[in-house]
Amino acid sequence: MTPARPGPGSDALRETLAYYRDLGVAELYLSSSFTFEENAPYPAASPTARLASASDLQSLAKEVSDCVTCRLCKTRKQTVFADGSPDARIMFIGEAPGADEDAQGLPFVGRAGQLLTRMIEDGMGLPRSSVYIANVLKCRPPDNRNPEPDEIASCRGYLERQIDLVKPEVLVALGKFAAQFLLETEEGIMRLRGKWGSYRGIPVMPTFHPSFLLRQPAQKKEAWEDLLAVLARLGIEPPARRGKAT
Ligand code: SF4
Repeated sequence: MTPARPGPGSDALRETLAYYRDLGVAELYLSSSFTFEENAPYPAASPTARLASASDLQSLAKEVSDCVTCRLCKTRKQTVFADGSPDARIMFIGEAPGADEDAQGLPFVGRAGQLLTRMIEDGMGLPRSSVYIANVLKCRPPDNRNPEPDEIASCRGYLERQIDLVKPEVLVALGKFAAQFLLETEEGIMRLRGKWGSYRGIPVMPTFHPSFLLRQPAQKKEAWEDLLAVLARLGIEPPARRGKAT
């Protein structure tokens, strides 16, 4: 289940301010009339296009749920296809489901997922439901081990088709495996992060995986810079600037 976004109130405000402080943001300029939903600049695709891609994605999700192509089908509880909007402008791609995701059938719902939600909602000022979130692998590797190259090769067609159907304007690669998949490189995430790449003409921003940020909170500042670059590329004002008097 998608973690609930903090509602209005002093606790939510305190939580949001603490989040920005962690990121090194010293000043916020929010007008008293600012509301999250009203200010999220997310133009919707035409209803017909949205329905078409949503139904194609549903068929693909069904195909994935029956998949027995690699060994991970024997140990998964269920497949984890995606979460979010079929007409998202931003698509986040992680590595593989963990225990919580395997149990719930949704990507990024454990501790790392909660941090990702805060990065999207509090950091970028966008509803999590307005982006699209998927993983390179659709089944959990046992004990959360790294994906094996043959597993990635077996599963790659599903993610490629998801990207084709969602047609995001920007891809955000969360961690090494997603970045290497999209950019077809062997480089590590330390070298790749923060530099734009391209996947079939779609701009790719590699950044740190939220699990890594939980272990290394000092790196949140870099991840924040990467997300700011994504917002700038899409012409979206960061929430700290929205409502600022001009
Ligand atoms: S990881 Fe991908 S290829 Fe392997 S069984 Fe799951 S869906 Fe199929």
